Amino acid sequence: NLTQRLAKVVKTMRGQARLTEDNISEMLREVRLALLEADVALPVVKDFIAKVREKAVGQDVIGSLTPGQALVGVVHRELTELMGGAQATLNLATQPPAIILMAGLQGAGKTTTVGKLAKMLREKQKKKVLTVSCDVYRPAAIDQLQAVSQQAGAEFFPSTVAQKPIDIANAAIDHARRHYFDVLLVDTAGRLAIDEAMMEEIKALHAAVKPIETLFVVDAMLGQDAVNTARAFNEALPLTGVVLTKLDGDARGGAALSVRHVTGKPIKFTGVGEKLTGLDEFYPDRMASRILGMGDILSLVEEARQNVDEEQARAFAQKLKTGKGFDLNDFKNQISQMRKMGGLSSLMDKMPAQFAQAASQLQGGVEEKAIRRIEGIINSMTPAERAKPELIKASRKRRIATGAGVQVQEVNRLLNQFEQTQKVMKQLSKGGMGKLMRSMKG
Ligand code: GDP
Ligand code: MG
Repeated sequence: NLTQRLAKVVKTMRGQARLTEDNISEMLREVRLALLEADVALPVVKDFIAKVREKAVGQDVIGSLTPGQALVGVVHRELTELMGGAQATLNLATQPPAIILMAGLQGAGKTTTVGKLAKMLREKQKKKVLTVSCDVYRPAAIDQLQAVSQQAGAEFFPSTVAQKPIDIANAAIDHARRHYFDVLLVDTAGRLAIDEAMMEEIKALHAAVKPIETLFVVDAMLGQDAVNTARAFNEALPLTGVVLTKLDGDARGGAALSVRHVTGKPIKFTGVGEKLTGLDEFYPDRMASRILGMGDILSLVEEARQNVDEEQARAFAQKLKTGKGFDLNDFKNQISQMRKMGGLSSLMDKMPAQFAQAASQLQGGVEEKAIRRIEGIINSMTPAERAKPELIKASRKRRIATGAGVQVQEVNRLLNQFEQTQKVMKQLSKGGMGKLMRSMKG
C-alpha cells in the first residue's frame, strides 16, 4: 500500500544533503499516485508535480533529516497553498439582505447546503435568515427546501412551479428587505449534466439578484468529473466560492484540489453527511493532509525523525559514559537539535519533571536569534578550541569575538552556558539518556 511504499522511499533517501532530480523522482512518483488515488484530476496532478519538482530541486535538507521528509514538507505546503493557504470565509458585508446564490448540478447538495448554511448562520452568527427555492422544475424540490428550512429554524419564502425563477427571487428579495432579513439564501435548479439552458437560466438569475456570494456546490465523489463541471460553472458565473459536499467517511477529497485549480476560487465549506449540522469551514492544511492520505505520511515522517534523533542521542550518551565529556561541537549540535524539535520549551513539555528542572537551567539564550549568535561564535573557534574549551583564554576570546562580530562578554557568556550544560548533561546521564529519549517519544 501507499504508506509502505512511501516508507521505503523515505528510508532509502536518508543521509543526502540536498534535494535533486534524482533523489526526488521516486518520491514524486509516489506522490503522484497518492494524488490520483485521492481522485485529483490528471491534468491537475501533472501541473502540481511539475511545480513541486521545480520548488524542491536544489533545496538544502537543513533542519530536516532526510530528503524524503523535506519533500513531503514541500508537497504538503504546496498543496495547502494551492487550496488557498489561509481559510476563506463568507462575505456578508453588504446592505442587507446579503444574498447568497447556490449553483451546481442536480444532486450536488445545493438544497441540503442551504439548510446547513441557514442553521450555521442562525446559530453561530445570530443572523435572521430567509430561504427561497427557484427550482421550478420539480415541486418536490421546493417542498424539500421548505422542510430543511424549518429544521434549520429559518424562514421559508414560498414559491410554485408556475412562476419564473427571476420573479420568485425578486419577490423574495422584496420580502427580505421589508422584514429586515440579514441573509437571503437562493436555491436553484440543477441538471444531471452541464446544459446550455440551465447555464443561461442561472446566469440570468445571477444578473437579476446580484448576489454578494455565488457558491458553486460540488459533490466530492465526482472525482475526475469535478473538473469539467467546475470549469463550466466558473465560465458561466463569477463564482465567489465553492462548497465541497459529501466529503463523508473515506472520501479522499481530491476534488478539492481539482476544483480549486480550475476555478481559482476558494473552497469555503465542506459538507459531511445529510444532517444539517454537517457543514464545516474549510481548512486547506487539513485537506492537504487528507489528500495525501496522510495522517499516515506525517506520522511516518515523525517516526523517521525520532529514529534519527534517537541514534544521535545514543551516540551522545555513549560519549558521556566513556568519560570523554562533551565539547562545544556537541553543544552546537544539541542546540540545533533543540531548535529542530521546536525549541527548548516544547521539549520540556515532553520531559518528566526532574529532567525539565535540570534543563530549565539551560534556558535563556536558546531563542532563535541567540542560537544563531552562539553558532556564529562556535564557528569562529578552531577545532582544538571546540574540543577543549579550557584552552580559550583572554587573547583567544578576543580573536573569537572579533571573528564572530560580538563582544568578548558574549563569548564569556557562551562559555559559561556551555559549562552549565555540561553539568546538566552529567546529571541527565545519571538519570539515563535512554529514559529521557523514551519519555520524549511518548
Ligand atoms: P441538490 O439537487 O443540489 O439540491 O442536492 P440535494 O441537496 O437534494 O442533495 C442530494 C442528495 O445528497 C440528498 O440525498 C442529500 O441528502 C445528499 N447530500 C447532500 N449533501 C450531502 C453530504 O454532505 N453528505 C452526504 N452523505 N449526503 C449529502
Ligand atoms: Mg435541490
